[in-house]
Amino acid sequence: MPIQMQKIISLCKRRGFIFQSSEIYGGFGSCYDFGPLGVEMKNNIKKVWWAEMTKKQEDIVGLDAAILMSPRVWQASGHLTAGFADELVECKKCHKRFKKDELEKNQCPECGGELTKPRKFNLMMKTFVGPIEDEAAVTYLRAETCQGIYVNFENVLNSMRQKLPFGIAQIGKAFRNEITPGNFIFRAREFEQMEMQWFCHPKEANKFFDYWKKERIKWHTNLGIKKENLRAIEIPAGKRAHYAQRQVDIEYHFPFGWGEIEGVHNRGDWDLSNHAKHSGQDLKYYDETTKEKYFPYIIETSGGVGRSFLAFLCEAYQEIKGGRTKTTKAAKEVEVVLKIDKKLAPIKVAVLPLVRNKPKLVKKAKEVYQLLKPHFTCQYDELGSIGRRYRRQDEIGTILCLTIDFESLKQDDLTLRDRDTMKQERIKIKDLIKILKQKLEN
Ligand code: ATP
Repeated sequence: MPIQMQKIISLCKRRGFIFQSSEIYGGFGSCYDFGPLGVEMKNNIKKVWWAEMTKKQEDIVGLDAAILMSPRVWQASGHLTAGFADELVECKKCHKRFKKDELEKNQCPECGGELTKPRKFNLMMKTFVGPIEDEAAVTYLRAETCQGIYVNFENVLNSMRQKLPFGIAQIGKAFRNEITPGNFIFRAREFEQMEMQWFCHPKEANKFFDYWKKERIKWHTNLGIKKENLRAIEIPAGKRAHYAQRQVDIEYHFPFGWGEIEGVHNRGDWDLSNHAKHSGQDLKYYDETTKEKYFPYIIETSGGVGRSFLAFLCEAYQEIKGGRTKTTKAAKEVEVVLKIDKKLAPIKVAVLPLVRNKPKLVKKAKEVYQLLKPHFTCQYDELGSIGRRYRRQDEIGTILCLTIDFESLKQDDLTLRDRDTMKQERIKIKDLIKILKQKLEN
């Protein structure tokens, strides 16, 4: 694991972003828990994505489908057959298992041993519904959220009186029994997806594919990812997902190498035609103007919340050797600043009394904290020197620090410090909410 990645993982644990699942029992295979700061940041990512899809774009509505679905859904979608299986090989010597397409040589990368012939390994997680664990009760945890959208296509079309083209957006959990999970939350067995399915006329599919590819890259760059750390790889026929006529993987340059954070797929009529066939329902769209009846094509943007989360963290993580704080001995230390976009930062404002042993300062600071709490995600911190507290806030990406000093008691004001510029300005408390809203919302 590259050292940069180890530092980010350690920060995540130390500061309450991400913990390993069931850690007191030694951890549980590639499942993760988001801590108090992690959940704020994850919610922010989802909120920004949801707003982008359902508010900024025209004709996209939301959905929240159940995780458990009829197993017939997964028959129809191709997930129970070869379509959703990886090729697994096992080392005959050390018995470690690997995904065949991730191996460079035909030998075990761990011990050099001989490998078995590849066999298909289905990634769907099985579960039982109802009290009897027999085959009739078997179903699966969804491996992708989008199937919930396809089976509700008619419901949404009719209840919302939609006309093509239109989209359905959904955020939710998905589960895959990955053979080689790893790279922290990059490849987990339980993860969240943010997916938007765009239904359109087959003749318009290519045009919309290009549109959505650009939009999704722009979304990430607008939130702070540098252009040079993103690339879009067009996947050739034969290497695409089983449902895709066209596929672009949007990849981020993680400390461990390039890795997919979002896929844009032209799924053609694969899903609707297969669900029509298996369910016996007519899922074709009737265009009243042209009198044409057809299966819409689907352009999908399928992103992982966790993978984007990790990309935003990696991009924001900066170590500054000395320099930033000039006044104290801390200048010799390495300072960590999480330069995360203000929309995504878990904590927007920290309220800090200059010192903690002056009751009047503490009282005033607590009043300010109570004033702001209903409006912004805030932290109150009185422990340690003010320099150290600024650095603690910088490390978690807090946008603004507010310090209450002796002047504040006389002037009813405070000092506002900006994370990135470290500039300080005095603000009257009566103007505080208005000014913070301006600074945080623009
Ligand atoms: P990979 O090739 O890395 O296994 P994939 O091509 O199977 O990914 P898709 O099926 O296109 O991925 O899923 C869409 C998105 O869901 C991915 O871009 C990724 O952000 C997210 N995702 C998929 N599998 C995982 C996983 N195991 N852990 C975390 N996120 C995942």
